[in-house]
Amino acid sequence: PELPAACVRSTFLDFFRDKHGHRLVPSSPVRPRGDPSLLFVNAGMNQFKPIFLGTVDPRSEMASYRRVVNSQKCVRAGGKHNDLEDVGRDVYHHTFFEMLGNWSFGDYFKEEACCMAWSLLTEHYGIPTDRLYVSYFAGDAASGLPADEETRQIWLDIGVPSGRLLPFGLKENFWEMGDSGPCGPCTEIHYDHVGGRDAAALVNADSPDVVEIWNLVFMQYNREVDRSLRLLPQFSVDTGMGLERLVSVLQGKRSNYDTDLFTPLLDAIHQRSRVAAYGGRMGAAGKEKVDTAYRVVADHVRTLSVCIADGVHPGMSGAELVLRRILRRAVRFCVEVLQAPQGTLASLVPAVAHTLGDVYPELHREADRIMDVINENEAHFLSSLQQGSRLIHRTLNRKDYKHGVFPASVAWSLHRDLGFPLDLVDLMLEERGVQVDRQELDRLIAENHKVMSDLQSGVQSQVMLDVLSLAELQHLGVPHTDDSLKYQYSLE
Ligand code: ATP
Ligand code: MG
Ligand code: MG
Ligand code: MG
Repeated sequence: PELPAACVRSTFLDFFRDKHGHRLVPSSPVRPRGDPSLLFVNAGMNQFKPIFLGTVDPRSEMASYRRVVNSQKCVRAGGKHNDLEDVGRDVYHHTFFEMLGNWSFGDYFKEEACCMAWSLLTEHYGIPTDRLYVSYFAGDAASGLPADEETRQIWLDIGVPSGRLLPFGLKENFWEMGDSGPCGPCTEIHYDHVGGRDAAALVNADSPDVVEIWNLVFMQYNREVDRSLRLLPQFSVDTGMGLERLVSVLQGKRSNYDTDLFTPLLDAIHQRSRVAAYGGRMGAAGKEKVDTAYRVVADHVRTLSVCIADGVHPGMSGAELVLRRILRRAVRFCVEVLQAPQGTLASLVPAVAHTLGDVYPELHREADRIMDVINENEAHFLSSLQQGSRLIHRTLNRKDYKHGVFPASVAWSLHRDLGFPLDLVDLMLEERGVQVDRQELDRLIAENHKVMSDLQSGVQSQVMLDVLSLAELQHLGVPHTDDSLKYQYSLE
């Protein structure tokens, strides 16, 4: 019998609350409150940042927190932690996921944190120890940071064999919230899904066989805006474990999408599509594309639901722009790969509320509004897509059309009149085996003084961000060049 995700979540929360005296704090909304350094909440620790920094209002409730546990709604689709490019292509990165975490604010430190984590995983969840690997911070000479030998010794004392204890550098084992903010060395627990002899070599190697599940961060510094490290007033523990990954381990699944957090959604998508079921029986090449589409749509509709419920709507800048791109990409996959009718995306919202609504009741409460917002945005996007496709079709059938070279003036009109980002124009042409006359298009862009002056004076208008590709923004020196804008409309 499988442990349902809901039990996995509650076992974690109960363990820290009932057995180890932690206070259960609710998830904060995914829209960061008063933190311009973030697009979305990307970790459980975000809402506690003032405690780490020692800037918490002493009269506030938060000032009394010593031990805390929670399950936090996280979105990693922009800024320092941006997983958009991996979503759908692998089976363990989502744009929205739940992070289970426990904290000590100046209370326990390394030893107790490691012991509790190990006891929960191996005794309470019953994960075999020979499937677990542990990484620790190897130090970094250039930044004058020492290796975390103390943590290595703690794990040895707990009984982790030295062959399963692996040192890694800054990138893997020094956790930072963003370009600035609290940070520190961390130790991470990885799970070997296969039981292979060479699994140690697959830790932190982007392999689906050995996946990171839990990160224990020892917060000791603040990364200042000038990149220097300042010692924090007190040392804290900040841990984060992806619920979806833990559930896949406990349900014996190699993929997060095969757990009960996703299967109801994938079934609902299949009912509306005209293609084989997820993981179905098509020819190998076609199947991968369809399965990717299933994963992207299931992932994106969760993100859309959670974000819209928390008041982030698809829009024209910042987090809103990222959400708009997420919505449009989901719509393209629905329509073009899964052959599902208009309205499909919104119709999946009840399935999202069904899997997550008990813990995040705003999903039930806001379901109608979420569906309306998704439908409106979808309709708008589909109608401009259709107009664009027609315009491209007519152009390709024109008598004066020179084979293979698409006229720049038409591409420009798709962009200016129909609001198509130029990367989408490129993509639509590529799918039809033609290319735009690049030189001429660049000339048109340069000639368009209105766009330039709007951008330079910072006027918010339709010509902002969405109609320009990342490369164009960089070319124009526009400051908004978040990585998330690289997320293209591609269906590959
Ligand atoms: P990875 O190396 O797999 O990208 P990470 O090191 O970026 O993960 P952390 O910042 O350490 O992740 O976050 C703590 C935990 O949250 C991870 O150990 C993992 O279980 C989970 N997690 C992180 N990113 C994602 C994601 N995009 N989707 C699902 N779970 C995630
Ligand atoms: Mg990551
Ligand atoms: Mg990692
Ligand atoms: Mg990590």
